[in-house]
Amino acid sequence: MKRVLNFSAGPGVMPEPVLERAASEMLSWGGRGLSVMEMSHRSDEFIEIAARAEAGLRSLMGIPSGYRVLFLQGGATLQFAMVPMNLRRAGAGVDYLNTGQWSKKAIDEALKSGPVNVVATAAASNFTCIPARETWACDPAASYLHYTSNETIGGVQFHGVPEVGPVPLVCDMSSDILSGPVDVSRFGVIYAGAQKNIGPAGLTVVIVREDLLGRAPKSTPAMLDYAVQAASESMYNTPPTWAIYIAGLVFEWLRDLGGLGEIARRNAEKAGLVYDLFDITEFYRCPVAVADRSLMNVPFTLRDARLDDRFLQEAEAAGLQQLKGHRSVGGMRASLYNAMPRAGVEALVAFMRDFERRNG
Ligand SMILES: *Cc1c(COP(=O)(O)O)cnc(C)c1O
Repeated sequence: MKRVLNFSAGPGVMPEPVLERAASEMLSWGGRGLSVMEMSHRSDEFIEIAARAEAGLRSLMGIPSGYRVLFLQGGATLQFAMVPMNLRRAGAGVDYLNTGQWSKKAIDEALKSGPVNVVATAAASNFTCIPARETWACDPAASYLHYTSNETIGGVQFHGVPEVGPVPLVCDMSSDILSGPVDVSRFGVIYAGAQKNIGPAGLTVVIVREDLLGRAPKSTPAMLDYAVQAASESMYNTPPTWAIYIAGLVFEWLRDLGGLGEIARRNAEKAGLVYDLFDITEFYRCPVAVADRSLMNVPFTLRDARLDDRFLQEAEAAGLQQLKGHRSVGGMRASLYNAMPRAGVEALVAFMRDFERRNG
């Protein structure tokens, strides 16, 4: 069976061993004679699967005991609304950093429930860098500060956790969670849609510090209240059982390959192969400031945009798929999530050099 190299920004490439294992267990999980998809979410079997997934994530990320892990639905986009619903204190402001399109969406959603203080925006650079920390106009009394650790569309990534004092830090890690070690104790809330670096779409992982639970107003719908979800172990209603199961397998795959330190090393190497190209040729160009370049999503343009269609057609024919840039920015984008093998990136770079040789 031939598989393509999938450079999609999301849903993205999955680890092949996970797909194979899921295939082998599809009709009968653990010899029980039924698929995980067919199990009651209240069954002992599924409760074990969910507990194993949570333990796997906790161990990989080193999540401290004062944090709850929630397996929710609605994507990162629902978190744009749930974060202010759950954390905005009456009379206090909320701080947001604007580094691109995903930050902007989070800001727009927060604006529906009250004022938003945008501490800094990267608009002046057309969102190609992270505004220097010294320039952020933070409110020391803010309910929280929200930022996006990796702007999936712009290809701008934090390579460290910003210092914001005692204000709870809230982070949309949708496209770089599990791409390397992170000190969870620095955060109030971390959230991520699963379909980039965790597993199937339909699952949203939320990691929340326990003291931030129970702040939502009484009028908050139960499904949207972190405290309700935490109290019911993410089973207030039927959770996305299949997606939780696959996520658990991805966590085991990461553990077995050496954990987040090892995947970070591999990710840096993979991204380096592509970024190195921009140093040796002007045929391709990456707009992002060198220090803020994303290891997960590499946007680039061709010197001659008239070659874009040919580039994409020939790449597709060579088995390199989904390299078209986001519709809002054009050009190309190569997403190099955890599950993209180094050989896939080598094939991409070889194709790019060959294309330049023939068209440069
Ligand atoms: C994909 C993405 C989102 C949106 O995720 P959904 O799960 O589709 O709601 C939000 N933020 C970032 C950084 C993303 O990459």
